[in-house]
Amino acid sequence: MALPPLHLPAEVWTHVFGYLSVPDKLSLRASCKYFKKLVDHWSLWRGWTAVLTFRNGSYTRRFWDSLRRRKVTSVVMRNPGAKDWKQLSQELPDLSAVVIEQSAMENLSFGKDFPHLKRLAIRNSDVVIDAHTWPHLEQLTHLSLCDVTFPIKSSFLPFISHLRNLTSLICHNSGTLVEPIWIMESILSYLPKLKHLSLSSKRACVYVPKRPVNEGISSLSSLELIQFSHHFFPVNTMKKVPHLNSLSVFSGDVYQKMSSAGSHLVFLLNKWLQNLPELSKLAVTRGPPVKMYVTSIPATVTSLTLCSSRLSLEDISAISVQLPNLLHLHVDPWPLNLGANVAEIPELFPKLRSLKLRQECVSEKDFLHLHRLQNLEHLEILDSTQHPSHLAGQLQALSNNRFHVASSPSQSDPMLCTCIHQVY
Ligand SMILES: [Zn+2]
Repeated sequence: MALPPLHLPAEVWTHVFGYLSVPDKLSLRASCKYFKKLVDHWSLWRGWTAVLTFRNGSYTRRFWDSLRRRKVTSVVMRNPGAKDWKQLSQELPDLSAVVIEQSAMENLSFGKDFPHLKRLAIRNSDVVIDAHTWPHLEQLTHLSLCDVTFPIKSSFLPFISHLRNLTSLICHNSGTLVEPIWIMESILSYLPKLKHLSLSSKRACVYVPKRPVNEGISSLSSLELIQFSHHFFPVNTMKKVPHLNSLSVFSGDVYQKMSSAGSHLVFLLNKWLQNLPELSKLAVTRGPPVKMYVTSIPATVTSLTLCSSRLSLEDISAISVQLPNLLHLHVDPWPLNLGANVAEIPELFPKLRSLKLRQECVSEKDFLHLHRLQNLEHLEILDSTQHPSHLAGQLQALSNNRFHVASSPSQSDPMLCTCIHQVY
């Protein structure tokens, strides 16, 4: 039988519990009342998001008390009804982040019910937002809409125009079904403080106005585009965002074959990259082979991510010629893996500080070549289990523990939609 847990001071237990994962903390609080009280200490739940499914109806008073003890500020609501929404606003009025999934609630008054709300995400939902709540939405700094229908025609852009303090907007397949205006240009002109924008092409750019909505240049620094082959963002997309620091392009199709759609993406990537003189981060997922647009990548790029597309030795060599000062590289090719090409990385990118890649199908000998990266600080193995593998241990020993080896975090951020991280 285990010893009673009272021999150590509470602060020591709390410190030890700080090293536990969330599932372990939840199991521990079920073990005895003493631990339950200690585990609910707010300092152990910083940054944690509670997921409320309402599967068994309403939650009990004791449940809400435990969330309040943990000072929860972020909540995901799955399939909520108006009753659940009301209960949440009464029980946890101080929330700063709320995610609503699969909902058809009407007349939501986000700002009034949650006066401290800064981050709001709505997914897979039909939403009717009460016009009287718009002034309260000015408090939002982050908004994410993913597969959200605004059933009232032309209600989407007026809604967006009230969010003057937004710094981050994710808008995937959302809005009214027919939105006769160029979404990206309108968003940039309505939201002067916007720094990060993520758009999907399904409903974004079906129409380009003859006259631009706004002649001004946006100060946007980060742009994500999910590109479907039947809808393309226009070739002059980057002209409005010349100060872009980070560009991510995802092909929304299962596999971007070199069909006419694929070759059009090659054309767009070349044109877009030529218009971005200040770019430092580029990520392309499910795109065409990099050799087809590599010479257009600005030399200012120091961080490159290439996922789910072909990556031959010829491609890698072409990158090293174009970007000899590359500092951060994340490669996850498909359908063929890097194989023996891993051994070439130290020669081709000697200045790398961080590297993310898979070790499967790479021989031990080739993988250990990575110890020759003299400036490497962080190596992330994408297909490793939670603890660094035997191979990773050997690599650290060879490099005298010069760099840190980590496995990929398995938990995804519940505040993010799956459109982007599911394609890695
Ligand atoms: Zn999304």
